Amino acid sequence: MRHALITFGNEESYGLSFVGGELLAYDQEIKFFDGDNCNWLDIVKWGPDFVMFSPMTTFYPSALKMAATLKKSVLEATTVFGGHHAMAAPSIIKSPYIDTVVLGPVRGSIPEILNGKKGLIGTIPTDPADLPTPARAQYFHDIPRIAKRYRKFVLSMLGCPWNCTYCSSSASHVRKRFGSDIHKKYFMARRPIADVIEEVRLVRTYDTREIEWVDDDIFAGDEEWLLAFIEEWMANFTDVYFDDEPHERVMPMYVSATSHNILKASDEVLKSLRRCVNVVGMGVQAIRTSTLKLCGRAWDCEAKMKRAYDRLISFGYRVNLQGIVGFPISDPLEDAIETVMGLSRIGPGSVCSLYPLMVYPGTAMEKLCEDFPKNKESVGDTNTGVCDLKFAEQKQLKNLCKLATFIVKHQIPEPLVRVLIEADYDGVSEDLSMLRYKECVSDRLGKMGENIFDDIIKNMNLKF
Ligand code: SF4
Repeated sequence: MRHALITFGNEESYGLSFVGGELLAYDQEIKFFDGDNCNWLDIVKWGPDFVMFSPMTTFYPSALKMAATLKKSVLEATTVFGGHHAMAAPSIIKSPYIDTVVLGPVRGSIPEILNGKKGLIGTIPTDPADLPTPARAQYFHDIPRIAKRYRKFVLSMLGCPWNCTYCSSSASHVRKRFGSDIHKKYFMARRPIADVIEEVRLVRTYDTREIEWVDDDIFAGDEEWLLAFIEEWMANFTDVYFDDEPHERVMPMYVSATSHNILKASDEVLKSLRRCVNVVGMGVQAIRTSTLKLCGRAWDCEAKMKRAYDRLISFGYRVNLQGIVGFPISDPLEDAIETVMGLSRIGPGSVCSLYPLMVYPGTAMEKLCEDFPKNKESVGDTNTGVCDLKFAEQKQLKNLCKLATFIVKHQIPEPLVRVLIEADYDGVSEDLSMLRYKECVSDRLGKMGENIFDDIIKNMNLKF
């Protein structure tokens, strides 16, 4: 049977790659379609029996619109939704345009789907070694703009130990659905090193300049695995270049981490990892104790963040600090300014990224925001700087998101920050975002980042 896999956004839908891999294991015919750029008639013409979606919350409205268009057309295919959003909001099954919702990993769902089961299909996670091989080669073949992305991500584990209230991948969320034992044995267990290396070996043949590891993936697991993995990485992904003179270059990784796990990591790990990691993204999120508590990150504080930052610098890493603004509190702008000035104290001269809070369904944050007015202007894209919640200070919050990278990098003092955020930047919003993005790419990849920046943005549909 034929399965159309519909993707959205500038990044690969990693979950859908695994769905594709599982379908191939069942000898099914698959084809990925770029939901942002394809004509729905192309999907109809291909004649799928099933149309599969695994959208993040941000892209759920686009995915539902596509499902509705296809259902209203001549297409008789079954529409199947899965992934984080579907798990967080299984009530989407009530939509007349969605036939089946998979709650859990793809493994175990395909026989039921092929047998025509509609409604909710629950699956039980088994072991990360039992994951299908993601169909990334076919994905890249079918959607060349994703193949051309300079940065691709890979996961070594599927879960996260933390409980951020705004996140649908949080540990409490997963434990509530599958229980603590499965969280530990499946979501917090590492994939076999050979599987991950094999996947990266394929991915790096597609214009890939950097591999990203999200959500504390690298630092959260056991060090024995990590040290062995780094050795395999060095052995497999070190190449000799002959630019000016022969030199070795390792495929770089960009990793995200929490202050807690950076401080917990051994000197041996930090030293070894430095061979392949230039930049670590450290989630600060907020500075105020009360806001950190609201985020479910009461275990963090500025002193700890500063120690973690200094430790990374002492090992030769650069750090990209990340913060969030626009929380459901009475003085969101003051809180946001405190966060930016805190980022400036923690990492003077560093690159930072400041994003507006997105309120995702099924999260603890959604409940906390229940009585807060929603911002109709939000399109669910953090790059716009537009908050999901409605505030009188929306303009200033957006300006802070656009300017934070320059404030921290160039150490702009607070009185000037307060003046700058009052100005009107609508005419240069795109230029500011591009400059900000270029700072981040250049910080990670150096001269090469500057050289390939124009190519990078060519293949992206950015919103400002
Ligand atoms: S660390 Fe990242 S993945 Fe983990 S709960 Fe927090 S936001 Fe979610």
